[in-house]
Amino acid sequence: MMDQILRATAANGMIKMAVITARDTVEMARAIHRCSPTASAALGRTLCGASLLGQAMKEDKASLTIRINGGGPIGSVIAVSDHEGCVRGYVDHPEVDPPRRADGKLNVGAAVGRDGLLTVSRDIGLKEPYIGSVELVSGEIAEDLTRYLLSSDQVASACALGVLVDTDASIKAAGGFLVQLMPGAEETLIDTLEQNIFLMDQLTVILDEDGAEEIFRQVLKGLEYHIVERAPISYRCACSRERVEQALSVIEPEELLDMIGEDKVLEIGCQFCDKKYRVTPDDLRCILAQRAENVEE
Ligand SMILES: [Zn+2]
Repeated sequence: MMDQILRATAANGMIKMAVITARDTVEMARAIHRCSPTASAALGRTLCGASLLGQAMKEDKASLTIRINGGGPIGSVIAVSDHEGCVRGYVDHPEVDPPRRADGKLNVGAAVGRDGLLTVSRDIGLKEPYIGSVELVSGEIAEDLTRYLLSSDQVASACALGVLVDTDASIKAAGGFLVQLMPGAEETLIDTLEQNIFLMDQLTVILDEDGAEEIFRQVLKGLEYHIVERAPISYRCACSRERVEQALSVIEPEELLDMIGEDKVLEIGCQFCDKKYRVTPDDLRCILAQRAENVEE
């Protein structure tokens, strides 16, 4: 089954809910970065969160980045989504894999740490992106994201994100949900949602065995709801030769000349997809010449 985001409204529009299924997306991330099970979970949850928020943006060129720096051994966790919910990301130290928690679950909180910030930047093509951050509470990601949404968007929400790692370290299931209450929602709706979420089956088990629609059934139990959108998502990198050259063109001319002097072919790897770009001394001369032209203009 293809990875996708499904969106629904419930209780006459007072509740908005999105469910993401992202097994293939997270498996792709794991394979590219050779993630340990815990790193797969940390990166996978963050990718799912970014996709849910990014796909909700309406501007064509919009992108959304979640950056988590908790001071833990995994380093930073970065996930970027475009407006279609297609994501890319990486962690600084994908090999980090702390012992499991007492309940047998992967210890994402210990890998990520909780001494730092979760930062979300939304870029809608204006000069400056909109940036907001919150202090981490658990490093388990969904809880931290929920706090961000409350502080930044003033929207009460509940979020759960999960990655189920198979015994061979591949991804068995991944995804989650975000349910948001519109301002003015009645207390009884909050109670119903809280009760439903408390009683629901384990998220990754539903994702693995039943699929996205069962998550709606359980979270919105007792409420009338309509699925209003289904959008395919995937792991997709935005890198290109042009972008690599753009990045090189901001290097100081003296430094570029030094690089040309070394007469070596550079191999520049994309952080997100590991694609390798070869840059020859002649390419660098071109970049330098173009810069000289731009300066004259
Ligand atoms: Zn790339």
